[in-house]
Amino acid sequence: MPENKKITPQKPDPEEEKKKQQQMQRRMSFSVSYLLVGMVVLWLFQEFVLTPMLIQASEIPYSEFKQKLADNQIVKVTLRDNDIIGEMKNPTPNATPATIPFETIGNAESDPKLVEQLQSAGVSFDFQRPPSPIGSFFVAYLLPLLLLGGFWYLMYRRTTGGAGGGLGSIFGVGKSKATEVKAEDVGVTYKDVGGADEAIGELQEIIQFLKTPEQFAKLGGRIPKGVLLIGPPGTGKTLLAKATAGEAHVAFFQTSGSEFVEMFVGVGAARVRDLFEQARKAAPAIVFIDEIDAIGQSRAGAVRIGGNDEREQTLNQLLAEIDGFQTTHIAPVIIMAATNRPEVLDPALLRAGRFDRQIAVGNPDLTGRLQILKIHSKGIKLAPDFDWERAARMTPGFSGADIANVMNEAALLAARRNADSVTLADFESAIERVVAGLEKRSRVMNEDERRTVAYHESGHALVAELVPHGDPVSKISIVPRTRGALGYTMQMPTEDRYLLTMEELQDRIAVMLGGRAAENVVCGEISTGASDDIMRATELARRMVTEFGMSEKLGSVRYAGQQLQYLGGAVEDSSNVSQETREIIDREVQRLVTEQYERAQNLLREHRAALEKLTQLLLAKETVDGSAVKAALGKG
Ligand code: ADP
Ligand code: ZN
Ligand code: MG
Repeated sequence: MPENKKITPQKPDPEEEKKKQQQMQRRMSFSVSYLLVGMVVLWLFQEFVLTPMLIQASEIPYSEFKQKLADNQIVKVTLRDNDIIGEMKNPTPNATPATIPFETIGNAESDPKLVEQLQSAGVSFDFQRPPSPIGSFFVAYLLPLLLLGGFWYLMYRRTTGGAGGGLGSIFGVGKSKATEVKAEDVGVTYKDVGGADEAIGELQEIIQFLKTPEQFAKLGGRIPKGVLLIGPPGTGKTLLAKATAGEAHVAFFQTSGSEFVEMFVGVGAARVRDLFEQARKAAPAIVFIDEIDAIGQSRAGAVRIGGNDEREQTLNQLLAEIDGFQTTHIAPVIIMAATNRPEVLDPALLRAGRFDRQIAVGNPDLTGRLQILKIHSKGIKLAPDFDWERAARMTPGFSGADIANVMNEAALLAARRNADSVTLADFESAIERVVAGLEKRSRVMNEDERRTVAYHESGHALVAELVPHGDPVSKISIVPRTRGALGYTMQMPTEDRYLLTMEELQDRIAVMLGGRAAENVVCGEISTGASDDIMRATELARRMVTEFGMSEKLGSVRYAGQQLQYLGGAVEDSSNVSQETREIIDREVQRLVTEQYERAQNLLREHRAALEKLTQLLLAKETVDGSAVKAALGKG
């Protein structure tokens, strides 16, 4: 059941959601407006070009035509192949127009006397060639198509930023959607960023350059144009970029890679150009492209579904812009970008002269977490005895965003119990809440189930205490949680760990399987409650075999696919692993897991009495802390 290691962001960030929605709306309204304008253009064409050309003259019988001719009513005619068109006097005298068009079927061939009669009546007449089929095709089909095409071309020219202009600019699709924050409105500085001292150190040079570009120009050094912030989600990359603008006191243009990805080829590229144009005007400035992997994905390799044209053009435009503009001391512009998937970035982006400064932003260490805690408790009333140090120790592996979230939850919990300050206990509950979800006391479990859960959790806790490298248990609970856990055991590492030995990993697997082991030892029966434990144990064992080279049979060879640096695990890709090797991997994984399962069971059999004692205590109190585990084992 949940272990205090990693937490996933709880709810989608409402701001992100809003942004996405807005973007969708923009896209929708763009296509709708395109459709509307297209329709209007067609209508205009029909109304004012096509219709007047085809104006229908009233058709009259040939006899009537002859009658009118005899009555001197006809003014002029054109004799065509199969019909005659012309104008006759308006039957109502003095009305406007004086003449009206008419049309009648018949020709000079079928009425040989016609020409003579026309001549004697003094009507002006002429003959007409049969209409060329190409001509009418042109008018009816080709012309509207050409018009539409021309319209499209204008838009295209506009969006790709050519000299076009005109119609396309109505929509402003090629406009960059970056938000510009004026230097005086940035409002964050490095004081608001905790635990990122190395990154801040590396950014000092950029700030110096933005502040006093002349000095750099004097010495003739080449200034880095691009800085890429790399790190897991929530570590403050966006914050750091903005704070850099705040420190240097320059304008900040923030945009996200996804805003360049539109359905029309060329739009993204136009936006890139527009963005840089704006930035140059506002210089000195920082242009920040968040989640740059959305456009900067490697063009080679990974097969992507759908057209890559748009992405590729945008990326090319970005590269061209970066190459093209000179970070002069007159208009210094620095490009910053952030990603948590550096492995997918196109190498062209990373080469010298582009994003050649790469700064890693990692999850904060203990001191970093302490700083972040202090930053995020500024507006919060803490109890006078709030132990910062302990609070920081409780959050290993948490990112800055996680810590901010926990601190906020703690304040909410304190408010809920009408307290006037936030205590460490609130903070601890907030961690639980974030890691495991809210308590769900309303769920009624029958006595048997409660007992099983109590044995299960006691098993985890005891094994954690009994193996040499187990992280100390801080809390055990059998109160069901909204996230589905029926109980949980929380472990609190004493220090941040960066390297783990094989023995430590084996101990972890044993602890994960301690729950099921207890069920089996006590009841001789196992339940479904361990599926998550099993999944995590198997995953870890597999990584030990395929990534960490911890199996003697397979040696120090990597069998896993491409590494995902910050998002955990590796891409499943065993295409270059033979069938036999795969079988050995499976067997080794199974061996690792089974060995630890046996080990956990043996430990619990040895300490059967302690297991019983802890379980009874849990059933009585529902939640106990780490000292109860030690007490059950008779360790003071
Ligand atoms: P990223 O861009 O790396 O995903 P963000 O910069 O968007 O992370 O961080 C989200 C929020 O988390 C920030 O607005 C800030 O409140 C908090 N946060 C993250 N890292 C830190 C940090 N190092 N110091 C202070 N606050 C942080
Ligand atoms: Zn469990
Ligand atoms: Mg971000």
